[in-house]
Amino acid sequence: MGSSTSILGLGAMGSAIAARLRETGHATTVWNRTAAKAAPHVAAGSKGAATVAEAAAASDVILVVLLDHASVREHLDPHIAELKGKVVVNLVTTTPDQARETAAWAADHGIRYVDGAIMAVPSMIGEPHARLLYSGDEHAYNTVLPLLETLGTAEYTGKDPGLASLKDMALLAAMDLMFLGYVQAIAMMRTTGTPAVQTAGEVEAWLAAMLPHGRELAAIVDQGTYDTGGQSVDFDRFGIQSLITASREQGISAQFLEPHQKLLEELAATGHGDSDWIRIIERLTIH
Ligand code: NDP
Repeated sequence: MGSSTSILGLGAMGSAIAARLRETGHATTVWNRTAAKAAPHVAAGSKGAATVAEAAAASDVILVVLLDHASVREHLDPHIAELKGKVVVNLVTTTPDQARETAAWAADHGIRYVDGAIMAVPSMIGEPHARLLYSGDEHAYNTVLPLLETLGTAEYTGKDPGLASLKDMALLAAMDLMFLGYVQAIAMMRTTGTPAVQTAGEVEAWLAAMLPHGRELAAIVDQGTYDTGGQSVDFDRFGIQSLITASREQGISAQFLEPHQKLLEELAATGHGDSDWIRIIERLTIH
């Protein structure tokens, strides 16, 4: 590869990446919309680029760490000539379709495109527990892998450029719903004066004990028959109703729980009361 790596975007994440690359002996060229943010990087040894065109021309590998899809397209689209033949690794958080759209644009213009998703906060960059997901042009990915491995554990998810984003979004969705569970439990317990921190500790222990069941439920989904005799839709309907009633008795809304109940009721109404409750996954598919 060429001698330098260009980094577009020096926010919290771009700065951490630039610093890590310098630390590991890589020559870096940096660009940021607000030029003042580049100054400390230049002082630390990066080469400053006044424009995206200059940054793109300076390196064979361009790491994009801007804010969102719109800012990526705003700054890459005008620079097809400078980017042609280069490897662009887009680390910006996007949806899978946004990643696919940028990949298609890159392919149309001879730009070697790898989409990335960072499962880490800036302070973790460079640590093995920083997990970075990639998808898209596999040859380009392998070419820049030694560089990417300096940022954290690199995982290639597949040729579909949307895969890294999809996995990122799926895992974030799981986290989001899990933390809503914390909120519900804390809200319920606070009605009796229990400190939130105490309830959070109890939720943590309870979830840790329950987590292995996630894989058992997943195995039922993969098998696809929903007839293992595990916890049924009808059993779960009563369970969820109790949670909803208990919340309301304490003066706490059950808004997070009600969609779960609605899906279970739909399953029961379509003749699946005896099915394993995990059949609920079928109700999530939008036809
Ligand atoms: P920051 O808000 O710290 O920085 C945003 C960066 O984007 C700045 O360099 C900013 O430039 C630039 N920017 C914003 N809008 C534009 C625009 N229209 N044109 C040009 N530049 C623009 O964000 P982060 O660095 O934290 O995040 C960068 C990406 O990394 C995001 O996609 C984020 O989702 C992802 N990410 C971040 C994580 C984190 O914990 N921080 C974790 C995982 C992923 P300026 O200085 O001029 O405003």
